Amino acid sequence: MNMIFNIEKIRADFPILQRQIYNRPLVYFDNAASTQKPRQVIDAIARYYEHDNCNIHRGVHYLSVKATEDYEETRREVRDFINAKNTREIIFTKGATESLNLVASSFGRQYVAEGDEVITTIMEHHSNFVPWQVMCRERGAVLRVAGINEQGELDLAEISGMISEKTRLIALAHVSNVLGTINPVKEIISLAHLHNIPVLLDGAQGISHLPVDVQDLDCDFYCFSGHKMYAPMGTGVLYGKEKYLEEMPPYQLGGEMIRDVYIDHTTFNELPYKFEAGTPNVEGVAGLHAAILYLKEIGMENIAAYEDQLLRYATARLSEIEGVRFYGTAAHKASLVSFLIGDVHPYDAGMIIDKMGVAVRTGHHCAMPLIDFMKIPGTVRASFAFYNTEEEIDQLVIAIRKVREMFS
Ligand code: PMP
Repeated sequence: MNMIFNIEKIRADFPILQRQIYNRPLVYFDNAASTQKPRQVIDAIARYYEHDNCNIHRGVHYLSVKATEDYEETRREVRDFINAKNTREIIFTKGATESLNLVASSFGRQYVAEGDEVITTIMEHHSNFVPWQVMCRERGAVLRVAGINEQGELDLAEISGMISEKTRLIALAHVSNVLGTINPVKEIISLAHLHNIPVLLDGAQGISHLPVDVQDLDCDFYCFSGHKMYAPMGTGVLYGKEKYLEEMPPYQLGGEMIRDVYIDHTTFNELPYKFEAGTPNVEGVAGLHAAILYLKEIGMENIAAYEDQLLRYATARLSEIEGVRFYGTAAHKASLVSFLIGDVHPYDAGMIIDKMGVAVRTGHHCAMPLIDFMKIPGTVRASFAFYNTEEEIDQLVIAIRKVREMFS
């Protein structure tokens, strides 16, 4: 393989990759569920507690000012990382799920009324499906769900046909966590904007694999989790265009999101603090900062190119195994493969693959409407990160052959 970067050096940055599982070197292919953390991120959390721990905002003493400055510096890093216009558009959350619930709840209350429609797709993670379903039901609105073709791709003509004067928002995944499909989001956004309809992108699987430029995409909202991009659990981001965030009501109420509180009413803080009630995950945000610096140093373009090689290699090697069927063969894919082996149940396959030291995920991947649509019990999913190697994919191939052997 043509090495774009130094894989040995990168692997050495991730302490967990040195672990043995069942006396074999760990092969970690569950990166779509959560990525491992480099030493730089682990150290940033320890450093925060050893040197800087304090609640942020409002403090006048040294530690509080320092913790606040570092927190706000991370907000600037996030803004630059996704090329947002300004930090008022960057809201820290505890993950993609909270970002999506925030928009569904707050945008719904502000803009969605009886008879209105929201468009989403059949390939969504429950986090970008259930909040819209419940919000629409509560507000008397209709959730319209676009389908996919055999390859796991959306049909732009179908989405175009769903758009009407009733449409208030289109919410879809940048990248599918089950199929790997990279959706044609720029085309969908252009189409929606012709009708002044905002578009939300669930970027939980986009942010770690692709360079993301929210101004270039021109999306109106972009949501992601820190833990899927080498940062700590319990961190996440909601990017939103100021024109919407300004008008949207607060999602949670409490400290920090207020300006003045009187006995009979309250005025709210400015963006982004209006949407950041309560003490945030300061330690996690320190780790998120370190993760972004780490990714920037490797370069998202390099990561995308290397992971694409892994995807091609895995697709070719798994295709050689009789009985392996892929789910998601889109022309534009991120680095994951979802598959079934003959008629072996995905859980049985996953258990055997695990015993061979390879961590894959099995089941519905929190996308039950999609799994029902495909009429399968679930899939086995191997999702790759830039610290994975072709040699590890060879281990997966051996494990799959073992599954076939045991079930033949
Ligand atoms: N959307 C997609 C596409 C995902 O893959 C996930 C996580 N599997 C989520 C949303 C939810 O992310 P989290 O659980 O980190 O909030």
